[in-house]
Amino acid sequence: MQPIGRAGALFLLILATLLVAPIHARQGTTISVASSTAQPDFPNRITFALSAASSAADIREVQLLYGATRSGALTLVDLPLKANPQVTLSHQLDTQVYYYPPGTEITYRWVIRDAAGNTLESEPQRVVYHDERFNWSERTVRNVTVYWYKGGDAFGDVLAAAVDRALAHLQAELGTNLTKSVRIYVYATNRDMRSALQANSEEWIGGQANPTLGVIVATIAAGDETGARRIIPHELSHQVLNQAVENPYGGIPPWFDEGLAVHNQEVRDIDYDQMIVQAAEENRLIPLEALSSTFPADPEQARLSYAQSRDMVEHIIATYGEAKLQAMVVAFAAATPVDEAVQGVLGHSVDELDAEWRKGQPKPSGPTPDLVGPQVAPADRFRDRPVLPVGAAASSSSTPFEDRPPTFIGWLASLPTWATLSAAAVCCITGVLILGTVLLIGLRLVGVDKRI
Ligand SMILES: [Zn+2]
Repeated sequence: MQPIGRAGALFLLILATLLVAPIHARQGTTISVASSTAQPDFPNRITFALSAASSAADIREVQLLYGATRSGALTLVDLPLKANPQVTLSHQLDTQVYYYPPGTEITYRWVIRDAAGNTLESEPQRVVYHDERFNWSERTVRNVTVYWYKGGDAFGDVLAAAVDRALAHLQAELGTNLTKSVRIYVYATNRDMRSALQANSEEWIGGQANPTLGVIVATIAAGDETGARRIIPHELSHQVLNQAVENPYGGIPPWFDEGLAVHNQEVRDIDYDQMIVQAAEENRLIPLEALSSTFPADPEQARLSYAQSRDMVEHIIATYGEAKLQAMVVAFAAATPVDEAVQGVLGHSVDELDAEWRKGQPKPSGPTPDLVGPQVAPADRFRDRPVLPVGAAASSSSTPFEDRPPTFIGWLASLPTWATLSAAAVCCITGVLILGTVLLIGLRLVGVDKRI
C-alpha cells in the first residue's frame, strides 16, 4: 500500500521561508518531544518517527513537514492518530515513488497540537539521504565531497585532483565558484549507478546531476582517469554556473550552460568538430535561438546541439574574451533575458551572434534539406551524448551521462500556454460527447428513453 495514501496525507507545497518563519503558535511547555528521527533506507524509503507527549490534554493533531533543504519547498503530511496525551507515530516516505537522489539533504520538522489549544513546532532537523548500500570512501576538496567505493586511495587521488583542477579552472574562467556544497557519488558500474536512479530511467543514462540539490551521480570505473577528467569538470561547470545564476526569475540558455560544460571537460569530444562541419555543409545547423529553449529530442540533433553550444561558447571566449563571458554570467544572475544579456554584453542580437559564428563555418554545398517538424522538440535538454552503439557504454570515456532527469511536468511546462489550454478544451469536449453518447445508449438499453 502506498504509505502516503494510507496516512490520508494532505500534500501542500509551502515556501521554504516557513523553515525560518515559524507559524504563529503557542509554544508552551505543555507539549514535549521525546524523540524525533529520520531513518534513511536508500533507495526505498525514509522513515520519519516521532514520540511526543502533552501534559495538558490529548494530542489531537500531528503534522510532518519535510523537503529537500535546497529545493525551496516542503511537503506537509497529516499523520492519522488516536487522541492521547502520549503519541508515537511514524511516516514512511516511499522514495521509489517520490524520488530523491543519493546525497540529498532533507529538512524535516513536526507540528503537534493538543486538545487544549497548545501547539509545538519542533526545530528543523536535517538528514542526508546517503546511499548506505556501499562502503564509501570520501574526500572533500573545498566544498565538494566526492564519494567512491572501488579503486582505493589511488582512485580517490584521481577524483580529488579532478575536482580541484575543475574548481580552480572555473574560478578563473567564470570569476565565481561554489558557494554551496556539492556531493559527487561515483559508482563503479552502470548497474550500481542505475540502482540509485529513479525507477524507469532510460537505459542509456550514465549519470545524473541536480544543481538545485547540489548532487551529482555518475558512473566512473575504478581507475578510469579519462572518465573522471571528462565527467567531473562537465558537471561541476553546471553546478558553479547554476549556483552563480540562482534566481527564481531568470535562467541560463541551454546553449550557454551545456556549451560551457562541454568546453570545460578535460577530455575533448573530438567528434563534435566534424559533426559541425558536416552539418554546415549540409545546411542543417540549428539556429542559436532554438538552442535557447530546449535541446531536440532526436539523439543526433541533440548531439549536434551540444557540439554547436560548445563551439559558440568557444567563439565568444576567442572573439570577446573571458571577461565578456563573466559579464554574461552576471547578466543572467540579474535575471536579464537572454536577448538583452547577449545584446548588452556582446553588442549583438542572438541572431547576429549566430550569423557571426556561422561565418567561420563551411558554406553549404547542397540544397536546404526538408526539416520535418519543429527543430526544437519538447524533450529534456539535459542529455549528453545520448546514443552509443550497443556495448559502447562499457567504455567509461564515452559513457553518456545525463545532467538532470527529464520530467513529465517539465515537458508540460515547456508547452506554450495556448497548446495546454487547447488540449484541455479538446479533452473536455470529447469527454462530454463520449459520456453523453454512452449515457444515451445506456438509457435506451434500459428503456428510460421512450423516444422512438
Ligand atoms: Zn551537461
